This record gives sequence, C-alpha cells and structure tokens, in this order.
Amino acid sequence: MKKEGMSFFEWQRRFDKEEACKDYLYHEKWPNGFQCPRCGHTHAHFLPSRGLYQCSGCHKPHLVTAEAVFHSTKLPLVKWFWAIYWVSSDKGGISALRLTKLIGVPWPTARLILTKLRKTMGH
Ligand SMILES: [Zn+2]
Repeated sequence: MKKEGMSFFEWQRRFDKEEACKDYLYHEKWPNGFQCPRCGHTHAHFLPSRGLYQCSGCHKPHLVTAEAVFHSTKLPLVKWFWAIYWVSSDKGGISALRLTKLIGVPWPTARLILTKLRKTMGH
C-alpha cells in the first residue's frame, strides 16, 4: 500500500467510506479481477449482508480482508487506512498517543493498530 505523495487531505477524501477501502483491498487482492483459488472461476458476486464475495463456481465465500491486518477487528476500515497514512509517512515512528488524536481512537486501540501495522509493514 503506497501513499504516492498524497496529502492526508487527499488520502482522507479517497478513503472516506468503508466501500472505498474495500474496493482498494479488492484490487490489491485480485489485481486482474477475481479468481477463485479453489476452482479457478473468475466470477464472484458480492453479498452485502455478510460483507464477502461468493464464488459463482463453487460458492466458496471470500473475504477481502481475510489475510490482511484488519481481520477480526471492529474498527472501521477507514480508520485503519488513516492510520496507515500516518505510520507510513512518519519515519521517526509515530506514537500511539499522537495517533489517538489523529484518527480519534482510544489509546489501547491506537497501540494495537501501531503494533499490527509495524509488523506488517516491516518496521
Ligand atoms: Zn470457486
């Protein structure tokens, strides 16, 4: 995930909704369009009520965020994306305290986010 020289304002505007984040993750996961790892089918339909994609061939459900850091978190994706911006732009290492203010989450959550993101981003 790259910022490509975006300002936080632009980043926030781009990822202002859960859908925008999910869309981004979808394209990260399937850059050439959906392909089912089980049956190789290239069509899936989205099941909004469950928030996942179901393969049209074998009906296996696929969660876009399955392998990502965001798995099993109640935090909105939008906040994760905003945190990613700050974690990847602050080379000195952003503090959890600062993150609480920047994205509006409690301190323990900010700490958890930082730990997970740093692990993923290789800090
Ligand atoms: Zn399939």
